[in-house]
Amino acid sequence: MDQVVLRGVTKRFATKTLGDIVAVDNFTFSVREGECFSFLGPSGCGKSTTLRMIAGFEDLSEGEIELCGRPVSVKSKNLYVPPEERGLGMVFQAFAVWPHMNVFENVAFPLRIQKMNRADVNRKVADALAHTSLTGLENSYPSDLSGGQQQRIALARAIVTRPKVMLLDEPLSNLDPKLRESMRFEIKELQRTFNFTIIFVTHDQSEAMAISDRMMVCDMGRIMQIDTPENLYNKPANRFVHSFLGESTFLNVLVRDGRAYAEGDPEHPLDLSVPAGAAERMVVAARPNAIELSGGSDGYQTHVEKRIFLTDRTEYLVPVGNQILKVQTPHRVSFSQGEKCAVRLADPVWYPADDEAAEKER
Ligand code: ATP
Repeated sequence: MDQVVLRGVTKRFATKTLGDIVAVDNFTFSVREGECFSFLGPSGCGKSTTLRMIAGFEDLSEGEIELCGRPVSVKSKNLYVPPEERGLGMVFQAFAVWPHMNVFENVAFPLRIQKMNRADVNRKVADALAHTSLTGLENSYPSDLSGGQQQRIALARAIVTRPKVMLLDEPLSNLDPKLRESMRFEIKELQRTFNFTIIFVTHDQSEAMAISDRMMVCDMGRIMQIDTPENLYNKPANRFVHSFLGESTFLNVLVRDGRAYAEGDPEHPLDLSVPAGAAERMVVAARPNAIELSGGSDGYQTHVEKRIFLTDRTEYLVPVGNQILKVQTPHRVSFSQGEKCAVRLADPVWYPADDEAAEKER
């Protein structure tokens, strides 16, 4: 079942300097029950605004949002359910724990709003604290606790009402890398225990990859692609997604008689099988670590223009036609600067040459 559904959701802001800006442009997608779904994209792409609209902190300019089958924001009908009635759990970066309340009161707060009786509050808070390894710290104040423990208070407060959907906006951004990793694991454990759906906002791609079942990659208020981490990495729908996730190297090619030639070298075809329906001008995209460099006669004959020793691999800049291809190999594959070599792009992705220009224009 789809638990969070957005249809044609648009958000415009009136700004003094830039006039009206479209922060979120016609978003339509759904998040399934029990899924961990991330919003990923560069700063300003609309991640937080989308999450805030789902939470009910932000009105929509157009469109509608449904949570667990219930409409909560429908612009055309002026329907708007306030955040406290949406039944969501939230951990927002700017929504940290309250410093003037001890751990118990921080976690009990959402239950107090519901006017729950004392015995139930005590029982539910104790349970939430037990699941976030905070038992025994009930009377402590957040300032006496570590960053990881403070983040757990926020998580305990979010799970105490047993929400079906949890919204997490950069919840780990204040933590050091080691702690981030273990908190990721804890969040997934909590999800398994309580079986909630997660929407996770981050600009950290490895974090999104590690935690998500599916991700939505956005740029400048537009959805670029929604898919599993693996498919986004291996089959990026466009050049933006290709270059945003992991390292990329691109080659402009000309297709003639079913063969592909690097721009600037119409004499020597590349060792590539051209996909059916390829236009005359295409762009071939590859991961630098998926390009083969060898000393043999198989592949495009060239030389090493530059060799850069990196900690865990060696990087080579290799001319192909009038362009430079970036290749990364394990250290055991070793070529010196100026040495002749052959390159083969093992499994490249093909894009129309006007893809990027078209994206910029949109
Ligand atoms: P970040 O990763 O930096 O948090 P983001 O992807 O979450 O970025 P948003 O915060 O959703 O991006 O912002 C999207 C766009 O909307 C940006 O151009 C931002 O400047 C603009 N914006 C957000 N809130 C407002 C507001 N209240 N008034 C005017 N413009 C806003």
